[in-house]
Amino acid sequence: MDNSKFIPRLLFWETTRGCNLKCLHCRAVPEMMTSKEDLSTEEGFRLIDQIVEFSNPILVLSGGEPLYRRDIFDLATYGINKGLRLSLATNGTLIDSKMADKIRDTGFARVAISLDGGNAATHDKFRAIPGSFNKAVEGIKNLIDRGVSAQINTTIAKHNYKELPEILDLALKLGVDALHTFLLVPVGCGVDIAEDQMVSADVYEEILNWFYDQSKLHPIDLKATCAPHYFRVRAERILEEKKAGLKPTPFIPHGTRLKAGHVDKVTIPKSAGMVKASTHGLSAMTKGCLAGTGVCFISHKGEVFPCGYLPAKAGDVRKEQFKDIWHFSRVFGNLRNPDLLKGKCGICEFKHICLGCRARAYSATGDYLDEEPFCSYNPSDKNVERGFSLADVESAHTEAEGVMPEFSLSWSGDAKGIIAKIPFFIRKTVVKNVEDYAKTNNIADITVDVVKKIREMKGGEAR
Ligand code: SF4
Ligand code: SF4
Repeated sequence: MDNSKFIPRLLFWETTRGCNLKCLHCRAVPEMMTSKEDLSTEEGFRLIDQIVEFSNPILVLSGGEPLYRRDIFDLATYGINKGLRLSLATNGTLIDSKMADKIRDTGFARVAISLDGGNAATHDKFRAIPGSFNKAVEGIKNLIDRGVSAQINTTIAKHNYKELPEILDLALKLGVDALHTFLLVPVGCGVDIAEDQMVSADVYEEILNWFYDQSKLHPIDLKATCAPHYFRVRAERILEEKKAGLKPTPFIPHGTRLKAGHVDKVTIPKSAGMVKASTHGLSAMTKGCLAGTGVCFISHKGEVFPCGYLPAKAGDVRKEQFKDIWHFSRVFGNLRNPDLLKGKCGICEFKHICLGCRARAYSATGDYLDEEPFCSYNPSDKNVERGFSLADVESAHTEAEGVMPEFSLSWSGDAKGIIAKIPFFIRKTVVKNVEDYAKTNNIADITVDVVKKIREMKGGEAR
């Protein structure tokens, strides 16, 4: 397996399990105080050194409640000085004016705050502490007042999915840059509530379609996280719109502040066509599940997992170098090979852009390569029936992710599929070369044959 193409893009470090809340759905089993097992400050510095040695991901300091750690700002400053982009994932209840000042001064790229309802009654019931909603909202306001980029994270479950429009409304009113929704994963404390709280696959399907509609309407970065089949829903919707002759509404690249309503302050970066963490921030994550391929989770005691919800241990930074774990762990190797997927995910035409949630598969059967249990799609030759090719699926996906360059001539879906398969950084040049040739030779429609012909002329790469 060529590991060089897998680079960490987003790392979650559970800095502590200590927390001031006792949320019903928490992935961790929260402790009231920080634990002696937590990586020490020195170990944290060493971890950061090991990360920057071979990669430049976004590092999310999470917990528990990361603000419970006394040295959290020392760790963050160390990471930022090493060139990393730091994000904080917090319950927000400790962010008073003084704390917000500190967060701003430290230079966090973004702060994600969890809200599990559109109102205090729902959120506080789930968080098990009265007043936590108001404190979290206050925390968000304190951050925004100081110009800190804020994001709301919402875990969707039975108790709150009907409040999604209310939560979106709140996010827009508060002026946060992003609203990321997570589908519940039944691990950690969640195991106890899974039966009651998991939303059915059919309801998820409705939610994801609603999400697609909203993502076109609002000036906010909306992201369905840990709902890999959203990428399938989105590709299907785009292809259906195209088939019906509708001009799809253009997607504003994820992670730009333009999408968050800062049109007057920021222009779309020139590199907007190239989605990568360094230019597109926290939302640059393409594909449904990136566990072990672009994302991983480091526990409070240094154990490494594909993500915080999948308890398949890949290594331990107290015993091994992070780089070695990332490159050589068997678990990561398995997750990097979609051909190993089983059940309906294994035969699904969307698997390369979706992959299904490996943690929900694990929780259902004990095998993380098994099929995602909360996807209602039944793969078959459905795309053939509908007239979609695999290239069409890839093309719709990359278009929605903002990674396709502008096409000034008419291109067939299959021709665009060829562009989607070449490295994103040369796509613009290739498209320009093809279109220049077409214009010179009075070719109005770019087909696969046209692209192939130019490729042959240029010695393989249409450049
Ligand atoms: S396995 Fe993938 S989709 Fe599931 S919780 Fe982990 S990162 Fe998210
Ligand atoms: S069957 Fe699996 S790979 Fe296909 S869309 Fe559903 S979750 Fe994704």
